[in-house]
Amino acid sequence: MATTKTDGNQSFRQDDGGVAEHQDLINSIDDSKATENTISHSRRKFLRGLGKVGAAAVGAAAPSVGKPAWGGEKLKDVVGDFFQDHYQRMSPEEVKEALARIERKAKRKFGVDISCENTPPQQGVVYGYALDISKCQGYRDCVTACVKENNHGRDSQVQYIRVLELDHGDLNFEHSDHYYDPETVPREGKWYIPVQCQQCEDPPCVKACPVEATWKEPDGIVVVDYNWCIGCRYCMTACPYWARHFNWTDPQIPSEEINPKTHYLGNRPRPIGVVEKCHFCIQRTRKGLQPACMEACPTGARVFGNLLDPNSEIRYILENKTVFRLKEDLGTEPKFWYFTG
Ligand code: SF4
Repeated sequence: MATTKTDGNQSFRQDDGGVAEHQDLINSIDDSKATENTISHSRRKFLRGLGKVGAAAVGAAAPSVGKPAWGGEKLKDVVGDFFQDHYQRMSPEEVKEALARIERKAKRKFGVDISCENTPPQQGVVYGYALDISKCQGYRDCVTACVKENNHGRDSQVQYIRVLELDHGDLNFEHSDHYYDPETVPREGKWYIPVQCQQCEDPPCVKACPVEATWKEPDGIVVVDYNWCIGCRYCMTACPYWARHFNWTDPQIPSEEINPKTHYLGNRPRPIGVVEKCHFCIQRTRKGLQPACMEACPTGARVFGNLLDPNSEIRYILENKTVFRLKEDLGTEPKFWYFTG
């Protein structure tokens, strides 16, 4: 029998040999209030439990395309998710099926037609970001644009960008406040610095992940396979920049606010219980667009581009301005630079 323990604000279940987990799946499918996200996150538990109750026939049927004899589309998608392989190991056909499942699930959950793509990295491109801190006024327009573009749960308050407010002359981020809420900004005597994933060239978050659910792509973007993440949060502990965020609740987004243009490794709807982070708007930048935060910045503080292009604006800044990176002594080699003027 499975028992539930409470540990702070999260709960977990003791192992009972997998039988209760199999029953959980059946209950979840029957329960109209259960979310597919919750079911998806239990993939490994399901697989273990399934083997123990001898339901191999379901497994054998799972990868088949078309309407299965043993269930409808929703059940087929649930089982398809459980048997889905790591993104980097999937065949093109398996990726196509995974993308179709994501689109169908979004339609069922939000009532919206989305497109989920897997646009690959461009040859000869490594992305970098630079930010002029003398221009940042603390408006947080970048934060708002990021939330909308990247389909953040509106209830969870997950935000990829933290704009830190500090006293003039104070460079100690331990003294910063990213919950500042005055009537107007900038406040006198304060300065502001936005911090998000630094897309480290040597990312400690990747090394910390025990299941290789996060990795660095050839264009330098550190990505997460939300279907493979087990929610252990080791990556959050390893990140020195507070850049990773955990979905404690099932992300809720009003249907009319869903951004329907999504990428598998980017802004597709995420389930409860996984870690996410800034991915330089991979759904936009791999198509030659600018990140949403850069487009939204009213002061022109942000510069994004291809580090391998000697004629790019970001290369000009790196070669002609006095730039610095956060916590350089850690050797993480961020591809995010700060400068003034
Ligand atoms: Fe990983 Fe944090 Fe570096 Fe981003 S900033 S690549 S989450 S260690």
